[in-house]
Amino acid sequence: MEIKTKKFKRDLLNWYKNNKRDYSWRETNDPWKILLLETISQQTQLDRADTYFKLFIKEFPNPETMASSSLKKVLILWSGLGYNNRAKRLYESSKILCETGFDELYPNFEVLPGVGPYTNNAILSFAYHKKVITRDVNVDRVFSRYFGVDEVKTFIHNNKKTLLDRVSSRDLNQAIMDFGSMVCKSKNPLCSSCVLENNCKKYIVKIKRPQEAFSGSNRELRGDLLKLLLSNNKLSLKKIEKALAVDREKLLKATTTLEKDGLITIKKNNLVEINS
Ligand code: SF4
Repeated sequence: MEIKTKKFKRDLLNWYKNNKRDYSWRETNDPWKILLLETISQQTQLDRADTYFKLFIKEFPNPETMASSSLKKVLILWSGLGYNNRAKRLYESSKILCETGFDELYPNFEVLPGVGPYTNNAILSFAYHKKVITRDVNVDRVFSRYFGVDEVKTFIHNNKKTLLDRVSSRDLNQAIMDFGSMVCKSKNPLCSSCVLENNCKKYIVKIKRPQEAFSGSNRELRGDLLKLLLSNNKLSLKKIEKALAVDREKLLKATTTLEKDGLITIKKNNLVEINS
């Protein structure tokens, strides 16, 4: 396995040299930029995430500028990205980071709201040059197919030394990410032109459960509702029903989850207000 792992690394990094995607944050060591980018890019294509990242970093170049702003301002800038909880958690993280900086939290950034193992490792690898693999679905898919393994976490743990030996973890992680989204794609991987094909096990591709259809979903309604409240501050349930042409049952489902997430408050008189 050691020889195959070395070959994987060599072929992949050679591919990356010529096919690397250029983004403004690719070379940064700033953990705040990495946290921003990783939060924005969850469930969002990198090209689109890059556009939002530039807007955010201009407005909030450090945690202090975001923490001294309002949640409402962060949500306005976030408009169009969906999954508004991520914006709220980012805002909460900025407040924590004003009290306790990244260096003090190192290496446990998971204490920040919304930061899981992936983002934790991304900050460790890209800001602190730690020898770690950032695992997400794209990365797991590449390992699973190429090495023919089901348990990617165990595989990486057992082969970590060979994988990360004499290589920048930033380069390796970014190479796997780019390769996973450009070549070894979830659907229709480009196997016939793939530089890893000779040694790839092409393991059985697991079919993931399709995501909830967006159109007409509770997620879409929550997004529309938040947009409406951002321009009105507060509205009665009746007015919202009318404005969004939605029935009360669906609306209550959306308002309940948004309230639970701390984004809005439903007052006793059925007035719905955005939290600031
Ligand atoms: S040959 Fe196909 S499945 Fe294997 S790594 Fe390349 S693109 Fe992925």
